[in-house]
Amino acid sequence: MKCLFCEIASNKITSFKVWENGEFFAFLDIAPINPGHILIIPKIHVKDVFSLSNDSYNRIFQVAKKLAKPLKKATLAKAIGLAIEGLGVSHAHIHLVPIHKGNDLNPERAKKASLAELKKMQKILLNSFKGL
Ligand SMILES: [Zn+2]
Repeated sequence: MKCLFCEIASNKITSFKVWENGEFFAFLDIAPINPGHILIIPKIHVKDVFSLSNDSYNRIFQVAKKLAKPLKKATLAKAIGLAIEGLGVSHAHIHLVPIHKGNDLNPERAKKASLAELKKMQKILLNSFKGL
């Protein structure tokens, strides 16, 4: 069975990519909790965050830290929430979610965004993450 996030990380499936380096890939969640909700994944298949090597585990959190600041600025969020559930897709991923108030991270708030909204946010974040 093919892994959705492996296909996304290798560009076999088009996603709203906002940042990548040699090891990790970040893209918009198409059903964001709030606009600017992104996922950070390793390019190599690992079933969940806690199965990453210690070094990769440290590095994926460094990526989260690096992207959080410009994400907050770009979305005018009060804070950036970080969540790990891993119930949906069995490929390690971290959610970074711009939040404005308590309980904003509730996944039941996620709503499918329109293509136009996603394209607009992708453009904003590509610009915010440029050079990182
Ligand atoms: Zn995978």
